[in-house]
Amino acid sequence: MILPTAEIVCLGNELLIGVTINTNSAFIGEKLTKLGYEVRRTTCIRDDLELASAFFKEVFSRRPDVIIISGGLGPTYDDIQLEVLGKALDVPLIEDEKAVRQLEAYYGKRNFELSKERRKMALFPKGATILNNRVGGAPGCHLQYDGMDIFSVPGVPTEMEDILLNHIIPILNKKVKNSLFELKFQILNCSESEIAPCINDVKEHFPDLYVKSHPAYKGKMGIVIHVSGYGDKAENGIYKAKKELIKLFKNKVPSLTINNFKD
Ligand code: ATP
Ligand code: MG
Repeated sequence: MILPTAEIVCLGNELLIGVTINTNSAFIGEKLTKLGYEVRRTTCIRDDLELASAFFKEVFSRRPDVIIISGGLGPTYDDIQLEVLGKALDVPLIEDEKAVRQLEAYYGKRNFELSKERRKMALFPKGATILNNRVGGAPGCHLQYDGMDIFSVPGVPTEMEDILLNHIIPILNKKVKNSLFELKFQILNCSESEIAPCINDVKEHFPDLYVKSHPAYKGKMGIVIHVSGYGDKAENGIYKAKKELIKLFKNKVPSLTINNFKD
């Protein structure tokens, strides 16, 4: 099955020097995957106008259907995402009236004036549609360019999540045809190498499904088996694959135990 493709780009020196763990990329990657996108790449890049704009052009040249860029929408000197985007797209930055009003409302409630630094957050590449940020100051934006949907979100995880869940996912939801069906279960008292041949067998029987063992999955004991696939056929297929896996596992290691769990 051919899925629409996505790339995630995270801007920020702090992500590259070990100060901040890139949780945004994992969050966005999981949501896009569940929605029906093949996430092809996720990249961290420095807050450097030349370096980042050259990199953005490289991303555009691959023509993914969706690009989500996180970080660098704030008021500080190193918050340069929109400048980078403008340079890479070769469009000017224009003050957006709706963004100005949102920033005035956000800072007004806190009795802060709209300083030059804060007003900078209303400068968007020409053609962008503003996405309201209900958690923090900096709005996000949506641009359509050369058949791609480009979304800008802030780096602060709660702000990124707000814009992703309330604006971006609903926009993308209208475009995707096949969403993800998945199940996970845990097996205890066996080693991954013992059950590896069973996974290979089931993968061969269900070539359209992703069938994978994960030892130490999110701190859980034992091995977690993850089965997933896209489209109507996968809805039944994942349960059939699970049944076959369990039969093969038990033949191989009769003493192992199965535990169903929710993520
Ligand atoms: P702000 O208005 O806070 O400046 P911003 O969009 O400019 O928002 P950044 O300056 O890039 O965001 O990052 C703000 C904070 O968000 C960082 O200090 C970091 O703690 C966190 N952050 C940034 N990027 C990520 C990421 N990819 N994953 C997790 N946390 C991140
Ligand atoms: Mg910032």
